[in-house]
Amino acid sequence: MHIVIIGSGLAGLTAGATLARAGHAVTIFEQFHRAGGVTAPYERHGFKWDMGQLLVEGMGPDEPLGRILAELGLADQVRVRTEDRGYVFPDFAIKKPAEYQGVRWRIDQLRDLFAADAAGLDRYWADYLRFTSVMTLARRMEQDRGLKALYWKLRLYLKLLPLLSKKDWNAQQLMDHYFQSDRLKMVFTSILADFFTAPTEFPGLGVFTLNPEASFDKRMPRELAPDTVQLYYYDVLGGISTLVDALVQQIGSHGGLVHTSRPVARIVVEGGRAIGVVDAAGEQTPADVVIASGGAKETFLKLVRPEHLPADFVERVRHIPLMDSVFMVHLGVDFDPSPYVHGVCTYYYGTYDIDRAITEGRDGVYHEGRDGFVVHVPSLHSPELAPPGHHAMTIYTICPDTLREGDWAELKEEYADRLIAYAAQHIPPLPDHIQVREIVTPPDWRAWTRLDHHAFGGIAPVLGAWRVPHQTPVAGLWFVGAQSESGGGVNQVMPGAYKTARQILVGAS
Ligand SMILES: Cc1cc2nc3c(=O)[nH]c(=O)nc-3n(C[C@H](O)[C@H](O)[C@H](O)COP(=O)(O)OP(=O)(O)OC[C@H]3O[C@@H](n4cnc5c(N)ncnc54)[C@H](O)[C@@H]3O)c2cc1C
Repeated sequence: MHIVIIGSGLAGLTAGATLARAGHAVTIFEQFHRAGGVTAPYERHGFKWDMGQLLVEGMGPDEPLGRILAELGLADQVRVRTEDRGYVFPDFAIKKPAEYQGVRWRIDQLRDLFAADAAGLDRYWADYLRFTSVMTLARRMEQDRGLKALYWKLRLYLKLLPLLSKKDWNAQQLMDHYFQSDRLKMVFTSILADFFTAPTEFPGLGVFTLNPEASFDKRMPRELAPDTVQLYYYDVLGGISTLVDALVQQIGSHGGLVHTSRPVARIVVEGGRAIGVVDAAGEQTPADVVIASGGAKETFLKLVRPEHLPADFVERVRHIPLMDSVFMVHLGVDFDPSPYVHGVCTYYYGTYDIDRAITEGRDGVYHEGRDGFVVHVPSLHSPELAPPGHHAMTIYTICPDTLREGDWAELKEEYADRLIAYAAQHIPPLPDHIQVREIVTPPDWRAWTRLDHHAFGGIAPVLGAWRVPHQTPVAGLWFVGAQSESGGGVNQVMPGAYKTARQILVGAS
């Protein structure tokens, strides 16, 4: 088969590598000048940052992404290291103890801070263990076949039973069930602000997936209890672009092509079937299968066009909930920030009012760093990302794609100054040690990813919201990536694209 893939983000590349290794002719069209989508590297003046990447879940050898890497022959080429993240709230921080203090240390720290909610924290912990077990059994069920898979399914169902009464709850309901303190509820849901999804909109049981305990302390054992296995978070050494480069190389070594600076302007549909693509220069490339990634609205409303799609599908695509963007400052600094940050990745929150933060963001009001920001220092795990004695640091906040008032290009320097000033409250030497400063605004992201509305993590994870399925209503056209049913995050887009490619292979055999 000749397979054309639109987009060279991790979704497109994963599908491409899977299909190229299976002996099919793969051609990838990427509109940007470099492969990788939001995982392309950003290099200036001897520093290298990832455009967008922080920590990735499940890259170990026995974990879902690790297994995909092994099946694609990349396990030895992509080196990873377990990592954890720090959380700083407006009036306290969750501090990883210097000496490891057992799997419950975070819950116990919270029990000390929120004594009135001690019983609720114990109930949360019991359900967290149960949920982790459900996820473990689900992964085993997916991996095995026949009777063994049936066995895991049965076990999974039994484990799930006590959680079933909560399955339609939203995150706010789940938090209200365990806790009285609004501040404590926010400890578990704060990251939803980053997803532009209010706790009342997010699936309740999903809260456990937002808070894997091992992501707060990489020293935890894999297995919390029998059949209760946690996934770790990882840094990709050398930056996530090493994964991009390994995939591109793998595709090339199997005869596949990755064309950069080649935007696709149209997906050619004839008789309800995708038969190729036309690039921006008007050149047509025929295909047996087309796999699109990137924006859902851009793909279906512009590249395919509504006349080739069922009316209800078009209507649903028009209304998929999307996240908004990020404002990012990449810095090259000439000091060691490690005494001031909580490791490679630290989340700083400036408010407990997530609902207000989300409403304002959706209304085009940028909080300028006041509501929180993330500090990521990848050179702490990969010193080669900065010249000797220096560090590559990224500070970012979520922000509206479009400002209600003012213009990103005009305001970006002022916003960068403010963001650095907020960060300096935690990292005092920062302002005096900045040697390189590169600002990334939503219009930059839009151009880099060819989106009309930049949604940094793809679709917003809203409870019950419809998602574009990988198999589209157009025969021979598949849709993968952060705006597809898989949702965003490397740990979602790679397995989603891998499974889609396997499904295409099964259909072809
Ligand atoms: C700031 C930031 C932080 C993040 N942090 C994390 C994290 O900590 N952990 C995690 O797991 N995930 C994180 N993510 C999310 C994760 O990186 C993404 O969900 C994932 O990489 C998206 O991959 P993708 O292939 O779906 O999309 P993209 O990377 O957006 O790739 C799509 C590609 O398609 C191309 N394209 C679009 N239209 C066309 C066209 N018409 N013709 C040709 N090419 C086209 C685009 O140029 C782009 O290269 C983060 C993302 C950002 C931005």
